[in-house]
Amino acid sequence: MDLRYDTFYIGGAWVRPDSGRTITPVDASTEEPLGEVPEGTGADIDRAVAAARTAFDDPSGWAGWEPARRAGAMERLADAIDLRADGFVARVSAQNGMPVAVARQLEAGYPSAILRYYAGLARELSVAETRPGLLGGPIEVRRAPVGVVAAIVPWNFPQALTMFKLAPALAAGCTVVVKPSPETVLDAYLLAEAVAEAGLPPGVVNIVPGGRAAGAHLVAHPSVDKVAFTGSTAAGRAIGEVCGRLLRPVTLELGGKSAAIVLDDADLDLAKIGEGLFGATLLNNGQTCFLGTRVLAPRHRYAEVVDAFTAFAGSLPVGDASDPATRIGPMATRLQRERVESYIAKGLGDGARLTTGGGRPAGLDRGWFVEPTVFADVDNTSVVAQEEIFGPVLSVIAYDDVDDAVRLANDSDFGLGGTVWTSDPERGAAVARRVQTGTIGVNRYIPDPAAPFGGIKSSGLGRELGPEGLASYQQTQTIYL
Ligand code: NAD
Repeated sequence: MDLRYDTFYIGGAWVRPDSGRTITPVDASTEEPLGEVPEGTGADIDRAVAAARTAFDDPSGWAGWEPARRAGAMERLADAIDLRADGFVARVSAQNGMPVAVARQLEAGYPSAILRYYAGLARELSVAETRPGLLGGPIEVRRAPVGVVAAIVPWNFPQALTMFKLAPALAAGCTVVVKPSPETVLDAYLLAEAVAEAGLPPGVVNIVPGGRAAGAHLVAHPSVDKVAFTGSTAAGRAIGEVCGRLLRPVTLELGGKSAAIVLDDADLDLAKIGEGLFGATLLNNGQTCFLGTRVLAPRHRYAEVVDAFTAFAGSLPVGDASDPATRIGPMATRLQRERVESYIAKGLGDGARLTTGGGRPAGLDRGWFVEPTVFADVDNTSVVAQEEIFGPVLSVIAYDDVDDAVRLANDSDFGLGGTVWTSDPERGAAVARRVQTGTIGVNRYIPDPAAPFGGIKSSGLGRELGPEGLASYQQTQTIYL
């Protein structure tokens, strides 16, 4: 792959960059360069925000269109994205190491499904309602689009996480500046091509890849009305502080360290639960924010749970992300592998017992691979149990009874995802309700577009997806008639 671009998609046109600075995305499986794109500067961000502002403020423009008309344009965009499915799969998987089998589902089919879901919500959207006032006279309550949205996304699910923001923003009538992460820029150009083909009005969607400085410039830009961010907790805190000072609405989807609670009646037959377990604990090489990387096991079945997870992690084929048989690809970057390896060393230093993995897989000398790794005898207060590793590393922690399991699950700075594994789904749901977390699954975990997704505590603020995700791109205006 050698893909070269020399423009940004701003204001419905392909625009030359302000500077000669470039980004070289790299193949995580081979360490080979994949092409080159311009790196956005503050001046490029200024132009993108100005285009989004002009598009939003046009009285006959996107924000003023009937929602059903916006829905039609969103469905054309979904079609244009689907036409490029193979390209999205190949580009995302090469850049961040996501196995193609995962990318096919989550970076090709899923984003356009989210877009179609929000197009459907836009068709049903009631932008104004009149209700009787308590103190006399009718009252009109309008739901207006919040304005120009800054969407800042990370590299782990670049298209899905862009669409978590773009789809509800478009449905609400907002205009958007997307800033992709420097690691995953090539898929962003496919999205820009799809936007151009779908014929969205100029300035409704603008895309400027860039690094932290470009992101910070966008967050603080005076013409931005709302910030939607997914990424690390550290960056989220910095962005939240800026938005707090500016009194600017912000949603923050940040890190996690979720619990996978194995109840004493759980069926550990991997033939039955293996797929669900994969999606809930090791999806995308462990580089997924909602994963249950703290496995809580009943003490009297502890050895059995450790054996099951050891067999499960040890059985997953590790290899080049472009191979359809690969279940675990490389880490997205060299730095990410260094981080994961330093956590494995820390776990060993703290006395955890390695039951599988822990090193680099044999025969894979190129690419940033780490073996799927399981630690047993982990204390919930240790670093590997408390900090987000963002790699294929699971820690198995023993509990005494269900109260103890819930206590351990909640003894975390984070609260994003989680799962409960049981033969009794009602019992599982009762335990799930006691876990302090934004989302949790019983015997499965899939962020469904129809329901709100997001975290509590250090996992973030606000919700994406579902009607709740749309509401965060609207502001109400009350008119006492
Ligand atoms: P990151 O926070 O460094 O970067 C994410 C994005 O924000 C990038 O586009 C980056 O350029 C930009 N950015 C960084 N600092 C910024 C700042 N101060 N102002 C504005 N923009 C800034 O994270 P990453 O390394 O790209 O992604 C991995 C992290 O993201 C993990 O910790 C993971 O848990 C988290 N994550 C969370 C979710 C979720 O939904 N909760 C989803 C995916 C990833």
